[in-house]
Amino acid sequence: MLKIGILNLQGAVSEHYNITVKTIKKLNFDCEAVVVRYKEDLENCSGLIISGGESTVIGKLIVERGIDKVIHDKNIPIFGTCAGLVLMANDVDYNQAILKIIDMKVLRNAFGSQKNSFEEEIEILGSNFQGVFIRAPSILKVGKDVEVLSKIDDVIVGAKYGKNIALSFHPELTDDTRLHEYFIKNLFEE
Ligand code: GLN
Repeated sequence: MLKIGILNLQGAVSEHYNITVKTIKKLNFDCEAVVVRYKEDLENCSGLIISGGESTVIGKLIVERGIDKVIHDKNIPIFGTCAGLVLMANDVDYNQAILKIIDMKVLRNAFGSQKNSFEEEIEILGSNFQGVFIRAPSILKVGKDVEVLSKIDDVIVGAKYGKNIALSFHPELTDDTRLHEYFIKNLFEE
C-alpha cells in the first residue's frame, strides 16, 4: 500500500493530515496517510507533505533528524505549502537549512507580515482555487525545467518539478481537496 507521509515537526500539520485522509477516501486509492517525525517513519513513504509553519525551525529539525538524507536518497516527491515551499527551494533570501529540491529562488514573507494575510481567488491547473496566504513566500524565479503552476499578477505562487509541488498558499485550510488529489494522483503514475 502506498503511504503518504505528513511531516509533523512544527506548524499546521493536523489540517494537512485531515485533508489528506479525506482526499484518499475520495479517490478510493490503496493508500494511507502516516505521520512522519523521524527518518524511520519516512522509509516506506512514496510522498511527503510539508506544511506551513516556521521554515527555519522545520528545516533545522529535518537536518538534525537526518530526514533530508532519506528524502534525497529515495527521491521522495514533496508537496510543500508555504514554509514547505521555502524548504523546497535551492535559493532563499535567508540563511537557513533548505532541501534544495526545486531550482527556484524564494523570497520569504513576500506579501508582508501576519496582518497582511489575505485570501484571493487564483488560477491553478486551469480552474479557480481559493488561495489562503499567511506570511506567504513568493517565487522570484524558476529554472528551465520547473513548471509555473500559478501566479498572482506577475508573482509566482505555485511551481512543479517532476512530482514535486510547491505552493505559497494553504489548500489545507480550505475544504477543497483538488490540489492534494493532484499530488497523490501524480504519485500513482509511473
Ligand atoms: N513565513 C514563514 C516562513 O518562511 C511561512 C509562513 C507559513 O507557513 N504560513 O517560514
